Amino acid sequence: MFATLSDRLADTFKNLRGKGRLSEADIDATAREIRIALLEADVALPVVKEFVAAVKDRARGEEVSQALNPAQQVIKIVHEELVAILGGETRRLRYAKSGPTVIMLAGLQGAGKTTLAAKLALWLKEQGRSPMLVAADLQRPNAVNQLQVNGERVGVTVFAPEPGNGVGDPVAVARGAIEEAKRTLHDTVIVDTAGRLGVDAEMMKQAADIRDAVDPDEVLFVVDAMIGQDAVSTAQAFLDGVGYDGVVLTKLDGDARGGAALSIASITGKPVMFASNGEKMTDFDLFHPDRMASRILD
Ligand code: GDP
Repeated sequence: MFATLSDRLADTFKNLRGKGRLSEADIDATAREIRIALLEADVALPVVKEFVAAVKDRARGEEVSQALNPAQQVIKIVHEELVAILGGETRRLRYAKSGPTVIMLAGLQGAGKTTLAAKLALWLKEQGRSPMLVAADLQRPNAVNQLQVNGERVGVTVFAPEPGNGVGDPVAVARGAIEEAKRTLHDTVIVDTAGRLGVDAEMMKQAADIRDAVDPDEVLFVVDAMIGQDAVSTAQAFLDGVGYDGVVLTKLDGDARGGAALSIASITGKPVMFASNGEKMTDFDLFHPDRMASRILD
């Protein structure tokens, strides 16, 4: 649907080329098109309202340029505003000055955390770092095994609880992993944590306990870009329950729209840092606000 925003605006402005300023009626017509496009892309309503108001303000103040037609000019404003909300520049990971950098992942079950953990480990390896994966998701029966399999695929050590040790304590596993990383000189530790299908107090407490035990340099909230409107309440619940520094959007290969990215960034004020876009271990990259804004508009 975003694919048509440019076309819609071109249509709206068909007869406007060469005017000195956009009229109030032109601006209203534009605002309507942007509003529809964003709502259809599952951007949360309060975010749409704020966004449209900001674009209207800017459009009102600007001369229609000679170089661009009005549609192109509004697209340029919309693009710049989108980039600004999405965090402007790509936000890079912060590494610890001494000792291993600890990156903790949090998010709902099925968000793609375990897959993402291995992708991130591979990416870090390619950056010349020496990562270790930690299986602190002891809720989902297959999670430890899945992380071990993925770790093997990317050639990264996985720290996991010993089998047969009774009920696993994820906090103890995470704590043990940091000690192990220090001993074995791994410089980055990625802690995979348990999720549930929905927001749940016990899950939040467990994640918060792990956070307190390992004092992460970065907590990343992993969220499925396909969940649309639900992304906002989930993102807010994790912000309140665990807190995080950045967001990772997964399954961007399945979502041509990006509404979740915009809503989460706008409502939480946290930058989207990485994008996961496929089932392959290499389907992963830094998140580029600029490219996402183009994708939304093109
Ligand atoms: P977790 O419960 O958060 O650990 O989620 P998983 O890592 O197990 O992922 C849940 C499902 O989503 C699995 O079937 C993954 O293969 C799939 N998945 C994860 N990331 C992506 C992605 O970027 N794109 C697609 N298409 N599927 C993904």
